[in-house]
Amino acid sequence: MRVRFGPAGRPVNYRGSTIGVPAYLRAKGLDAFEYQAVRGVRISESDARALGQAARQYDVLLSLHAPYAINLASEKVETIEASINRLVTAARAASWMGAYLVVFHPGYYGKRSTAEAVRVCIESLKRAVELVKQENIKGILLGPETTGKTSQIGSLDEVIEICRSVDLCKPVIDFAHIHARYQGIIRTKDDYLKIIDRVEKELGDIAIKPLHIHFTHVDFGKGGEREHRTLDEKDYGPPFEPLAELLIELGLDAVIISESPVLDEDAVKMKKILEEKMKSRGVSS
Ligand SMILES: [Zn+2]
Repeated sequence: MRVRFGPAGRPVNYRGSTIGVPAYLRAKGLDAFEYQAVRGVRISESDARALGQAARQYDVLLSLHAPYAINLASEKVETIEASINRLVTAARAASWMGAYLVVFHPGYYGKRSTAEAVRVCIESLKRAVELVKQENIKGILLGPETTGKTSQIGSLDEVIEICRSVDLCKPVIDFAHIHARYQGIIRTKDDYLKIIDRVEKELGDIAIKPLHIHFTHVDFGKGGEREHRTLDEKDYGPPFEPLAELLIELGLDAVIISESPVLDEDAVKMKKILEEKMKSRGVSS
């Protein structure tokens, strides 16, 4: 069992260059970093390679979050083309830095039925994968994420369907998003188990070795996700403790990316919670 923890983006109190992030995280006991390219992929090849070098040196696992401006199910052909292009550009940068996974939000239903939107999304994604292969971009997987708003493609079922249909796809399980999308459904260990069990049964090793998780407390309304909250804001869920217990019981490898407003600080807190539970159960890492 190995569980890695790290922030989605630059640590909150860090002021240096991105290349220095892995050393900073390692000093805090963290060992994962999800590089944020959510407003566009702007990193140069040399900086990406230097970041990758530092990440390897400090044993920090990298992933990359692709731009938000991706809609693989748009009604506009140009938007789909641009979205495919952004995803391939993200994959290229991820490959430079040795990031293992390109996380992305699949898109929006728009005026399409949910089934039709997912079908178009899958077709577009297959074309992106073709381009990734043609260009010989190596070492990366594409990670469609469970999304938090009911207007977005990305229910657990849809993410599973996408991953079953398209090569190189590995699901990203954002528990806060699932929680928000379904009005607070994650409360117990069993709620987590149902999700992880389904993902494992339907997708197998590519999905759970390791399980790539986004975690934060979250506020939600009718349309789903409203805003992220810190781990100390106990009025909000989903609760981390039952997930930590379940990971230990399953002996699962996981990468837990903190999307809390205090990114790395809550990653450290989650890591402590997991380690304390491991210790009290006599489990070694
Ligand atoms: Zn995301």
